[in-house]
Amino acid sequence: MKVKMILPALTEAKSPFWRPIKYSLFPPLGLATLASYLDETDDIIVQDEHVETLELNDVPDLVVIQVYITSAYRAYQIADHYRAKGIYVCLGGLHVTSLPEEAAPYADTIFTGPGEDIWPAFLRDFKAKQPKKRYDSKTRTLLDLPFPRRDLIKRNLYLVPNSIVVSRGCPHVCDFCYKEAFFAGGKSFYTLATDRALAEIDSLPGKHLYFLDDHLFGNPHFAGNLFDGMTGMGRLWQAAGTVQSALRPGLLEKAVTSGLRSLFVGFETLSPTNLAQQHKYQNLNRDYAAVIKRLHDLGVMVNASFVFGMDDDDDSIFERTVEWAIKQGIETATFHILTPYPGTALHQRMQAEGRITNSNWDLYDTRHTVFRPNRLTAENLEAGYWRAYREFYRWDSIIQSSQAHKGMADQLRHIAYAGGWKKFEPL
Ligand code: SF4
Repeated sequence: MKVKMILPALTEAKSPFWRPIKYSLFPPLGLATLASYLDETDDIIVQDEHVETLELNDVPDLVVIQVYITSAYRAYQIADHYRAKGIYVCLGGLHVTSLPEEAAPYADTIFTGPGEDIWPAFLRDFKAKQPKKRYDSKTRTLLDLPFPRRDLIKRNLYLVPNSIVVSRGCPHVCDFCYKEAFFAGGKSFYTLATDRALAEIDSLPGKHLYFLDDHLFGNPHFAGNLFDGMTGMGRLWQAAGTVQSALRPGLLEKAVTSGLRSLFVGFETLSPTNLAQQHKYQNLNRDYAAVIKRLHDLGVMVNASFVFGMDDDDDSIFERTVEWAIKQGIETATFHILTPYPGTALHQRMQAEGRITNSNWDLYDTRHTVFRPNRLTAENLEAGYWRAYREFYRWDSIIQSSQAHKGMADQLRHIAYAGGWKKFEPL
C-alpha cells in the first residue's frame, strides 16, 4: 500500500519569513509515529510543507493529513485535491478533534484525539475495506507504542531533529490550554514505560535532545526514574515544565544531573487574578523569582512563556512583564496573545460573553487578537505584544539582564544565548 502523510504549512500570508523559521524547528513526530503502525512492505512518504514543497501529482492509496488550526484551510485544500483524484483521505489532529463537524466534509475518515488506539483500528478496517467515517480515541495508552519511523524524516531540514515525546498531555487543566480540547473524552495525561522511553532516547544520534512533552515533570515518579536512567548517557537536553515542578525538591536536581540545560516554563502572567480566572492554580502563590533563581543556581537557562490579554491586563502589562523578566535574568522569553482555541473552556466562556471577534483560523496563532479584551483594545494588545518582543530582545536589555547572574561565565553565556534568540524571536 502506498501511504502519503502530510503536515500542511499554515496559510497565513502576512509573514513569509516567520513561518519557515518557527515551524522548521521540529520534525513531524506524530506522523512518524503513525507510520510505525504500517507494514514494513508499505510504501510510506512523510512530507512537511514547512520545510519542503509538497509533491501533489502522486497517486497514493491513502493520504493522511495532520491538521493544526492555523493550517486548517491549507489542509482542506490538499484534502480536496486528493479526493478529486479518487484517493482516500484521512484527517486528524488538534483542529479536527476540536471541530470534527467542520473537518468531516473534507475527509473520507476523521480521527479525534490521539491516534494510538484509533489509527491501528482504522488500518484494520481499511484493509478489510470497511473503514468508518469517524474514529474517536477512548483508550489512552502508550503500552506497545512502536518507535517513530524516524527514517522517514528528513533530519537535515530541521533545526532540532532530535526531538522526542515520552508522555501525552498534562495533569493540569488550564482554561486557555489547547491540550484539553485534544484529550477530552478520555485520559488526558499518561506516559511511556520508563524502559521504553530510555530505549528510544538511547536510539537517537547526537548529544542534544529536546523533549516536546507538554509537561515532562507531570508525573514525578516517572520523571524521577527517567532522569535516573538518563544519568550517565551523556545527553544535554531541554524540555517544558511548570513553576510548581521547578520548585519540587529533588526532581530538578535529578534532571540537571541527567543533562537538563534549559527549561521552558509557563509563567503566563504576573497577575494572581488572571491565574485564578484561567484555573491555573498550580502557579498561584508561587514565588516566580525563586523558581528562576533555583534554575539558575543549578545552571539551567530559562525560556519564560507569558500570555498577554487576560482579563486583568491593562496597557501597563507589557512593560511590567518585560521589566520583571529582565530583572530576573531570564535568558529567553516567548510572548503570546491570549487565544481562545475552539474546544477550550476559555473559548466557551468568551463565546458565551459574545467576545469572539474573529473566526478566521489563520489568525489563531497567538500573534493576533481574535477576541474583545477586557481592559485593553485589540490594537493596544497587538502593539504591546510586539513592543514586548522588541524591548526584551534589545541589546541593552540583554546586557542588563545578564547582570542578574553572578559569575562572568554565566553572564557571557546569557548574552550569547539571548543574542542568538534575538535573531529569531522578532521574526
Ligand atoms: S500546565 Fe501547561 S500544558 Fe498543562 S494544562 Fe496548563 S497550560 Fe496546558
